[in-house]
Amino acid sequence: DIVERAPAKITAERTRHLGPNLSVSYKKPLKMVRGEGQYLYTDTGEKYLDMVNNVCHIGHSHPRVVAAAAKQAAALNTNTRYLHDNIVNYANELVATFPDPLSVCFFVNSGSEANDLALRLAQAYSGRREMLIVDHAYHGNLTSLIDLSPYKFNRKGGKGCPDHVKICPMPDGFRGPISSDDPECGRKYADLAIEQLRAFEAEGRPPAAFIAESVLGCGGQIVLPNGYLKHVYKAVRASGGLCIADEVQVGFGRVGSYMWGFELQGVVPDIVTLGKPIGNGHPLGAVITTREVANAFHTGMEYFNTFGGNPVSCAIGREVLHVIRDERLQANARIVGDFMMEQLRLMAPRFDLIGEVRGVGLFIGIELIEDHQTLEPATIKAGQVINLMKDRNILLSTDGPLDNVIKIKPPITFDMADAKTFLDCFAQCMEIVSA
Ligand code: PMP
Repeated sequence: DIVERAPAKITAERTRHLGPNLSVSYKKPLKMVRGEGQYLYTDTGEKYLDMVNNVCHIGHSHPRVVAAAAKQAAALNTNTRYLHDNIVNYANELVATFPDPLSVCFFVNSGSEANDLALRLAQAYSGRREMLIVDHAYHGNLTSLIDLSPYKFNRKGGKGCPDHVKICPMPDGFRGPISSDDPECGRKYADLAIEQLRAFEAEGRPPAAFIAESVLGCGGQIVLPNGYLKHVYKAVRASGGLCIADEVQVGFGRVGSYMWGFELQGVVPDIVTLGKPIGNGHPLGAVITTREVANAFHTGMEYFNTFGGNPVSCAIGREVLHVIRDERLQANARIVGDFMMEQLRLMAPRFDLIGEVRGVGLFIGIELIEDHQTLEPATIKAGQVINLMKDRNILLSTDGPLDNVIKIKPPITFDMADAKTFLDCFAQCMEIVSA
């Protein structure tokens, strides 16, 4: 029998039976029991607007996804050593959303697994191990990826940058050395990345690959300046390395104007990694690459992944693609996202606390600062805003290296009415913390 526990009892039992480094949101944690669309419901029946969850991308417990999962689970679930229609149906439809020559899929079970496999592909292709990364990035929880995540290795409990990794500065046009007002901003930040590439070359060990998110999530919702990836990719490729786009947070239409974030930059990566939204909450991930790279990984060693590409996961992934198309959710992300950005930018002059509003589609950041000269981060106030918003039944989070960026990344079913509710409540909370 399922025992229904009070939130405090769950907290106590978590302490007893789970690892101690799990975190919970909010001082008084919420117990969620149901999700529908962009809303979550607690054990006491309270309804919350979810502006955090970029995993349940097409809405919590979407009935079409639930039905696809149930139908396939009732028929068969097994591994890729038997032939099955689902994996090829899904692969065909997924690769159709990518530009040439990205045409080969590997199915895995998480964003971390996707990034780890991307590393193996790049290492097999180049015969090298070194990696170029962007500062403050997070790429996953595996040992190999903590090594590529300054968000972890340069923070509490981390062991610093490993020897096989060099860090490119974040192309942050608000806080970084080059302002987004500079028309050459993208190229100048690319030059700083290329300096790190040259440093590797000078040591006689050019990198296997450059990896970057297409919009920087943990870095604080930073939209890459125009031309940035074009310049970096060109230099990395000239040096014999590959270019990896981590689309785990921003893929599947969230950026609105495109299906994939890298398209904002007018580039085609050699490897793209997918996670979070791909299965709408079901553990699924994928790596999309070129035939050339996939063949270089065909070293004679089998690639086997027990759960990767199973019929249930593929049915779910395919249904997610269909729902994005049928419900026109990419267009929704663009329309509602543009409205939010416009309204937030109109609101900004009312509050000294707002340093910058940035983002694309339904991936938005509001950076709060104490002082427009020094850019001193308003970290405590950002946290207060999040808690005041919670009191108004809206769920949000903060992030960025200084933890002063309010992150907006709701399920992309988030609509105009939700946007207006958010904007009203946000203005109220900003009044309170500004007083
Ligand atoms: N890459 C990025 C950009 C991420 O945000 C995350 C998860 N936060 C990952 C990779 C790892 O994904 P997962 O937690 O599914 O392993």
